[in-house]
Amino acid sequence: MLPVEFDYAAPDSLEAAVKFLKEKSGAVVLAGSHSLIAEMKQGHLAPSLLVDLHKITELKGINYVDKILKINALTTYGQVVASSEIQTNYPALVEAAKSIGDPQIRNQQAIGDVFAYRDLACDFTAVALVLEATFSTLNADGSHTVAAEQFIDQAFGNNWQTQEIVTSVNLPAYVAGTGSAYQAFKHPATGYTLCGVAALVTVTNGTVSKCRVAVTGATPHAIRLTQVETALEGKTATAENIAAAAKLAGNSVDSILGDRYASEEYRRHLMEVMSKRTLSQAVNSR
Ligand SMILES: Cc1cc2nc3c(=O)[nH]c(=O)nc-3n(C[C@H](O)[C@H](O)[C@H](O)COP(=O)(O)OP(=O)(O)OC[C@H]3O[C@@H](n4cnc5c(N)ncnc54)[C@H](O)[C@@H]3O)c2cc1C
Repeated sequence: MLPVEFDYAAPDSLEAAVKFLKEKSGAVVLAGSHSLIAEMKQGHLAPSLLVDLHKITELKGINYVDKILKINALTTYGQVVASSEIQTNYPALVEAAKSIGDPQIRNQQAIGDVFAYRDLACDFTAVALVLEATFSTLNADGSHTVAAEQFIDQAFGNNWQTQEIVTSVNLPAYVAGTGSAYQAFKHPATGYTLCGVAALVTVTNGTVSKCRVAVTGATPHAIRLTQVETALEGKTATAENIAAAAKLAGNSVDSILGDRYASEEYRRHLMEVMSKRTLSQAVNSR
């Protein structure tokens, strides 16, 4: 039983959805429903209107626009895992999607969901940072595209406007010589990610011309490990250089979480170990 009364609308166009969100105070978007309905059942949220996006065909599917891979917001994690373009060029995203929940969850939940991005354990956020994804959004004032870093800041800073619809997650064109990887260390009972690390490495003429590393689960929100990145750029991608760079993982962030599931010290250790593993995997996946 749901403890609140609410209205329900399932518009078949983005324009109509934006209008509903603008005109009805307390209206929120409904996508895969798994998080939102649970929050409502627990009495944490009491929206006046659910605007179900499922009839809006332009929010479905994955397609290229000017070499940018556009993953539309209602694309499920299962569809992300099955995409041959993503498997070939963005393996880190496939690994993150595969680590989410179980097959039933992955077949229902959509990549455009913004609530998960405010969850400490969101696997996708670290990958969005290393792949330099952008997020396209739409509200009554028009459409906007923001970089992952800015989007995560906005969502975690409680600045998310519920009248705004995420329409797609966009990945830049694949660059030759680039590999990427993601690994998550999950708590065995809860399945929550205690530490997830994503890495991207581009090797040009034998040296690392670009390195991106980001962590989720171990810090208040997903964040890049810039000291690790700088330590590897300009060097050859040897096991020694990767290990030396990974040692700096804990230095790159202001705060590391410690709770009943894992201490700060343990998560710091995981950040180093998993930076080393994902960097090596990214180099080997080129
Ligand atoms: C059992 C279980 C296990 C999970 N395991 C993991 C895991 O291991 N790793 C992980 O990262 N995540 C995990 N999740 C979270 C999951 O991946 C989803 O992100 C989450 O459940 C919400 O997705 P949804 O499509 O069901 O969104 P909904 O529940 O429909 O919506 C959630 C919120 O996002 C908003 N929203 C949704 N889509 C849009 C949009 N396009 N534009 C604007 N706002 C939008 C809604 O208004 C709502 O506030 C798990 C969830 C469950 C239930």
